[in-house]
Amino acid sequence: MNRKSFRKYGHAMIDWIADYMEHIDEYPVLAQVEPGEIADSLPKSPPEEPEEMEAIFNDFKGILLPGMTHWQHPSFFAYFPANTSEPSILAEFLTAALGAQCMVWQTSPAATELEEVVTDWLHHMLGLPEHFTGVIQDTASTSTLCALLCARERATSFAINEHGFRDGSSQSLIVYTSEEAHSSVEKGVKISGFGKDQLRLIPSGADFAMIPEELERAINADSKDGYLPCCVVATVGTTSSTAMDPLRPIGEICDHHGLWLHVDAAMAGTAAILPEMRYILDGIEFADSFVFNPHKWMFTNFDCSAYFCKDPKALTSTFEILPEYLKTDADLQVKNFRDWGIPLGRRFRALKLWFVIRSFGVKGLQEKIRAHIELAKEFESWVREDPQFELMAPVTINLVCFRYHPSNHTLSEEELEQINKALMDELNRSGKMFITHTRLKGKFTLRLCIAQTNTTREHVQDAWDQLRASASNF
Ligand code: PLP
Repeated sequence: MNRKSFRKYGHAMIDWIADYMEHIDEYPVLAQVEPGEIADSLPKSPPEEPEEMEAIFNDFKGILLPGMTHWQHPSFFAYFPANTSEPSILAEFLTAALGAQCMVWQTSPAATELEEVVTDWLHHMLGLPEHFTGVIQDTASTSTLCALLCARERATSFAINEHGFRDGSSQSLIVYTSEEAHSSVEKGVKISGFGKDQLRLIPSGADFAMIPEELERAINADSKDGYLPCCVVATVGTTSSTAMDPLRPIGEICDHHGLWLHVDAAMAGTAAILPEMRYILDGIEFADSFVFNPHKWMFTNFDCSAYFCKDPKALTSTFEILPEYLKTDADLQVKNFRDWGIPLGRRFRALKLWFVIRSFGVKGLQEKIRAHIELAKEFESWVREDPQFELMAPVTINLVCFRYHPSNHTLSEEELEQINKALMDELNRSGKMFITHTRLKGKFTLRLCIAQTNTTREHVQDAWDQLRASASNF
């Protein structure tokens, strides 16, 4: 591709993106294709000869776009969001253009130093304790894996790093998390060699939050049985229902028993930029590590996960490597983020965060987050007031868990599940909105999460109207 054509298609694609964003609500939110349909429309082998950008771009629009689920659609209420925004997209262009590999300070001093600056900004915005230091990872899954590895090494005085699992020391290490924790904790436990048998799922209460007394009981029982309690992963905003594990009592238990406390606030952490929501992090000073994802609810393109830790030495001692070819004269004066996580290679992720925070301003970000929380409260009130629907969990921030449950019929749990599943599928097939489900204490539950960058009250009202209209046919 020559420069002239690059310029031409660069302009054309920016225009296309701006139009896409302007008309996104005309697309079906959930891709309306069958499995295999997209792959069947594509050639089985790569082209031998160069192809024109015109043809490639046309195939993107004609073949791939229909197979996309539109995460930036304002009626996307599914899962947790992966929202973006105009400044974030522009920064991603620049990151791609620079194509820098930001593994050590020397490979792009601005990338390392901007990462220090923006993580300090986030630190300040969330009101995190003074003693935390931040670094950007790709995802919360990776951040949690880093925490588990650090906890493992601290508990064994770095013996597993040195000698592996030979002497069986890892067999007695135990990790605790709630039964409502995200699957990334289980994955991290498997990867880091604790093994699933060494993961204790602590029961949650009626609010789906971890019960601290049950945690303490499990730790004491394990200690008595000769195990070595090692790490607790608490969740601020669980995936199923945004339940809030009580950090203060959990932190006090960890402090008393000398356990590593990692706090996973993947989506909900962003809410702490609101002074009135800071209480969700009450007790965070007990944490050894904390993660939240600006790529979920802070209008910053995937991927961008902010990891904060009390003792960066635990991180660097766990991950440090120093081959001759990476040594530089600046090593003693600078941070080399290659030692703050798993991969050596690092993208310039700080740039998009810097663009977003500057372009929205802290106040602009707060307004959006506050509006989402208020809309969730309003949706909750509609569910509460309607005898045909039932609220399934406390609404702690921006997620409403509910189900259709007509008060004038006696329906079994099985029938309720069938009806709600059919209702969800019908709405998602319509392309007008997208919600997903979970299971709470065994009950099939619909989840509606309000967090998309451009969702307004009108979109939430429409979703409620569609839900009620479809439900009346069942
Ligand atoms: N933790 C929680 C509470 C989550 O809800 C999620 C994803 O939704 C994750 C971790 C995993 O996030 P990531 O995709 O960044 O690994």
